[in-house]
Amino acid sequence: MMTEMVASNETILVIGGGISGMTAALEAAECGKEVILIEKNPSLGGRISQLYKYFPKLCRPSCGQEINLRRIKANRRLRVITMAEIVKLSGSAGDYAATIHIHPRYVNENCTACGACADAVVSEIRDPHNYGMSPVKAAYLPNNMAYPQRYVLDPSIIGTEEAENARAACPVDAIDLDQKAQTIHIRCGAVIFATGWRPYDASRIEPYGYDRYPDVVTSAELERMMDPFGPTGGKLVRPSNGEDARNIAFIQCAGSRDRNHLPHCSRICCMASLKQSTYLSEQFGEDADASATIYYIDIRTIDRFEDFEQKVRQDRKVRFVKSKVASIAQDPESGKPVCRGVDTHGYDRYENVHDLVVLAVGMEPGLDLGSILDTGHGVALDTGGFIELDDANDGVFGAGCATNPLDVNRSVQSATAAALRAIQVVNRVSAS
Ligand SMILES: Cc1cc2nc3c(=O)[nH]c(=O)nc-3n(C[C@H](O)[C@H](O)[C@H](O)COP(=O)(O)OP(=O)(O)OC[C@H]3O[C@@H](n4cnc5c(N)ncnc54)[C@H](O)[C@@H]3O)c2cc1C
Repeated sequence: MMTEMVASNETILVIGGGISGMTAALEAAECGKEVILIEKNPSLGGRISQLYKYFPKLCRPSCGQEINLRRIKANRRLRVITMAEIVKLSGSAGDYAATIHIHPRYVNENCTACGACADAVVSEIRDPHNYGMSPVKAAYLPNNMAYPQRYVLDPSIIGTEEAENARAACPVDAIDLDQKAQTIHIRCGAVIFATGWRPYDASRIEPYGYDRYPDVVTSAELERMMDPFGPTGGKLVRPSNGEDARNIAFIQCAGSRDRNHLPHCSRICCMASLKQSTYLSEQFGEDADASATIYYIDIRTIDRFEDFEQKVRQDRKVRFVKSKVASIAQDPESGKPVCRGVDTHGYDRYENVHDLVVLAVGMEPGLDLGSILDTGHGVALDTGGFIELDDANDGVFGAGCATNPLDVNRSVQSATAAALRAIQVVNRVSAS
């Protein structure tokens, strides 16, 4: 089905509903502009909704998210469309046409998130919120903070008796099995890409054996493990057998600063591992057995983050080894991962056994822009595929991690700047 959505060339289209997209959309809407925010997932929040705590304050991301959701609900100039993915963009500043593919949710606005549909369904899928580390029913709420607070039916059960059971169980007539995929066109004057980042595929770093060893996980997955609602119920354990993971290794630059993988520095990974080393004390208190080893090329922290690094360095549980780990093997007796390499302070070879190895994987752009742009002049990208600020981009702007691997604070600043630039474009349209 193809539909034209009511919008004008004074509308600002924001693509991606993570912290950057929410910020850009809110800033523009609160300045009085008409804004449409589209998100490909069933709920807003992006990657921050998958983090356990924020550096440097170690607070939960849910607080900031709640404030943004309240602002979104209160703003009538801002329309949010979830499960909506951009597939094509054409036109020029003041006159863009975006083609958006909307995936069916099979659940309508009546949903009260009571969970009766999930109770009626037996099939499970790998939970995308937990990076597939645990199962979830094929009728599921994307996460506890999900906005909209509405269940989703996985396409794998559509057309089966289970879907009918879910419909019959729903007390508010919210299951709509007739929903179909839709393609809509949105006209707009300026476009902000806030399409974020995705973790580098760890299985491509062959010597680290991510696919072979269950006790080798990524930094993104560790965030989920620490969450009480995550795949291990908030426990730092060895995924292979559920035993406590008290001796943890962090491998920096896993897939970053490496011409075989991502040549760029992903910037965030050092702070992410420093933060995650504090999870150890949180979990095991002052237990003398607990220890973290951070294998690094050099630690990159700036401004106030340097204070955080110094604090971590004072923790006797945390050891720093200046070395790029060459390979990971598996200890034949314990089945634990063994990090092998050379410590460049002294050039000693090591073979260290750990309970859990965390790969601080690099960050890649969340969207391959080349595949959807049909603007005639393209958009300037850097060598990593991140959007650059360039006059040639016309009325298209990047925000947050779509422009660079950034922390949340800098993503929000970048998103606010993108909103201001987009506002100037649509102001010119209304003045002409
Ligand atoms: C392991 C790890 C830990 C971190 N911890 C911290 C921390 O403690 N503190 C901190 O400040 N920062 C931290 N960060 C960085 C933080 O995750 C980013 O700053 C933040 O996610 C940036 O938000 P964003 O909105 O730019 O991108 P994202 O969070 O990636 O959001 C992008 C959104 O765009 C959507 N999207 C993508 N493509 C499309 C499309 N085609 N159509 C529609 N929608 C689309 C995605 O579904 C997503 O919802 C960490 C990063 C890592 C790797």
